[in-house]
Amino acid sequence: MTTIAAALELVRQRIVAACIACGRDATTVRLLAVSKTFDDGAVREAVAAGQLCFGENYIQEGVAKVAALRAALPQAPLEWHCIGPVQSNKTRLVAENFDWVQSIDKLKTAQRLSEQRPEHLPPLQVCLQVNIDGGPNKCGVAPQEARDLAIAVAALPRLVLRGIMAIPEPAPGFDAALAVHEETRRLFDEINAAKGLPYALDTLSMGMTADLEAAIHAGSTMVRVGTAIFGGRQAA
Ligand SMILES: *Cc1c(COP(=O)(O)O)cnc(C)c1O
Repeated sequence: MTTIAAALELVRQRIVAACIACGRDATTVRLLAVSKTFDDGAVREAVAAGQLCFGENYIQEGVAKVAALRAALPQAPLEWHCIGPVQSNKTRLVAENFDWVQSIDKLKTAQRLSEQRPEHLPPLQVCLQVNIDGGPNKCGVAPQEARDLAIAVAALPRLVLRGIMAIPEPAPGFDAALAVHEETRRLFDEINAAKGLPYALDTLSMGMTADLEAAIHAGSTMVRVGTAIFGGRQAA
């Protein structure tokens, strides 16, 4: 077994253990492998170990990897998620190359993605990024504005709104991480109950290497894990 295959197996075991600990069915939590900064060889190793969904933060790097993997493994049903900031001059690249965008925080970006999504591709699957704890990275819609943005994004023709994504500041321990993930969960439930949303949301994207157990306890349906699968990254 390769290092990446072994690491993936450990992450899957963590997810299953967390689900058992809080009485959830492990099939309700998807694992997104965050491959940013790692090359297409690393992604291929993860694919060989059964991982099909990958997250990328940097648009150009992500688009290059999508193309490399499509050339190397044309039959593999890979799913690519953009999880980093999308500047207006990058929306077309994103609309043409990714399957999901989890980092929508402005209607303008969503409108451009909807207009630029090619006809021959299925609708782009999107999540709103919510700045749940007002963290200093400043990405994400404010929680009190998330519901109205959700209703507006869900109305766009070439997008399907799947849910919300949050990246809280690192928490000092399980209980602190749980508290902020529970806040995200409450916001998700509130948006889902809103009149004006044409369909129900099914994706609560939260939890990373350090806090995936707390996120699963709070109801996460998708954990995004980089370090525990691919190893440490160089500081950007
Ligand atoms: C880098 C990143 C991750 C993965 O973080 P790890 O701590 O390496 O698991 C998850 N989500 C987003 C949005 C990221 O940028």
